[in-house]
Amino acid sequence: MATTALDRYTVVIGLEVHAQLLTKSKIYNADAAAYGSLPNTHVSVITLAHPGTLPKLNRKAAELAIKMGLACRSEISRYQIFDRKNYFYPDLPKGYQLTQDRTPICKGGYLLISTKTGERKIPLNRIHMEEDAGKSIHLQDEADTLLDFNRAGVPLIEIVTEPALRSSEEASAFMTEIRKLVRYLEICDGNMEEGSLRCDANVSLMLKGAKEYGKKVEIKNMNSIRHVQRAIDYEVERQAVLLERGEAVVSETRTYDANTGQTYGMRTKEELNDYRYFPDPDLSPLEVSDAWLAQIKESMPALPWEWREKLISVYKLPAYDAQVLTDSKPMAVYFEEICQHTDNYKAVSNWLMGPVKSYLNEHHLEADQFPVTPTALAQLIGLIDANKLNFAVASQQLFPALINDPSRSPETLALTMNLMQDSDIGSIQPIVEQIIREFPLKVEEYKNGKKAILTMFMGEVMKRTKGKADPKLATELILKNLTK
Ligand code: ADP
Ligand code: MG
Repeated sequence: MATTALDRYTVVIGLEVHAQLLTKSKIYNADAAAYGSLPNTHVSVITLAHPGTLPKLNRKAAELAIKMGLACRSEISRYQIFDRKNYFYPDLPKGYQLTQDRTPICKGGYLLISTKTGERKIPLNRIHMEEDAGKSIHLQDEADTLLDFNRAGVPLIEIVTEPALRSSEEASAFMTEIRKLVRYLEICDGNMEEGSLRCDANVSLMLKGAKEYGKKVEIKNMNSIRHVQRAIDYEVERQAVLLERGEAVVSETRTYDANTGQTYGMRTKEELNDYRYFPDPDLSPLEVSDAWLAQIKESMPALPWEWREKLISVYKLPAYDAQVLTDSKPMAVYFEEICQHTDNYKAVSNWLMGPVKSYLNEHHLEADQFPVTPTALAQLIGLIDANKLNFAVASQQLFPALINDPSRSPETLALTMNLMQDSDIGSIQPIVEQIIREFPLKVEEYKNGKKAILTMFMGEVMKRTKGKADPKLATELILKNLTK
């Protein structure tokens, strides 16, 4: 479709994000909430809701949900009931899902996102608690659908935004922000591939300047940020084509197929269930007392934006560095630990954003799994600052060696590997003289004004000293000898 046609519309997106809470047990019983166990090993009669069993709310789940609400500046509901959402599905052993319909634990609030057009506040409608369903497993060559109820009853929060996002890029930025936040709060592992963080996207179009939103389509259960963005892009295009043809968009639930990059209709809103919500008679309402709320506030860790501010104000990092280093909490923590052992904060930032980050990305690791200790990295920076080691040798030779053998100190390792910088005139001067003798034509060119030749001489010195010559001293000596 021509972009000019798309230009006539405003894209409206609201997200519903499910995050599995990191509790040890399920939301209303003591079954383990662990992921990846053998099927149906965490399934008691309470998970299956056998007659006569009584659920009991896991307060830890409520505490984690409240933490998310506090981080999003939501209003925390003090009196909450839990509702039954009734429907039949094979992976729902009880025939209803425990959720919060009328009294979400957190109301309102917002999250800031930043895209290339700047920073924007995305208002939240609510955050409520609910339980996850089990899993249907369709194996190849297996006629029956298999059911694993381990996940049934694992606590979730559902974060619902207002229809305030205006592009797939903003939706992707919002998801990135949510994932970062739940990881900083340590309330969810944020692992989208394993399904502990999932996203439904509601998408509609309206003519620019229109007063009313268009009919929305809901795209279900996407398990990567890239899929969210691509599914929305596809959906926007599909709806625009329909509208341009004068056809109506049908309110429906669609699914996204990552292989084709397209969305497909699943069911229309007319086929929607009547869930017959009513308060669960077996679960007592939850009251959030002043004391409990104060205690949760007290236990809040520093949030991504607080870390970012700190890196700028305390460690004097440029805003860009602070943003990159706070993308992950382990990286921010690692940065601060190294800074306990050196004052050259900008050098620490450069090392982390450069060689360390490349290594972590390549090996799919987080900074807390990086083998080099904060002290060792600080010592490495110290050697460079003291002019005992040059950066190229340090990053290309000593750094990989240190990763392989993190128990040795950088200094011992550099000495053993003979990498220490040579700042001795006595050893560099003869090498410079030798080079000048070997390249008389280049010397001539230099004298005729081709100053760039200096780099070539420098390269020769480094080659012959295996990169160990003190670059400042080498430059001085080359210049002196060239103009002799
Ligand atoms: P429903 O009644 O279909 O559940 P809700 O009003 O509860 O719809 O909203 C569900 C989600 O859909 C929210 O994230 C909301 O922001 C989003 N949403 C609502 N209306 C629209 C719309 N016209 N276009 C895009 N998203 C929308
Ligand atoms: Mg709704």
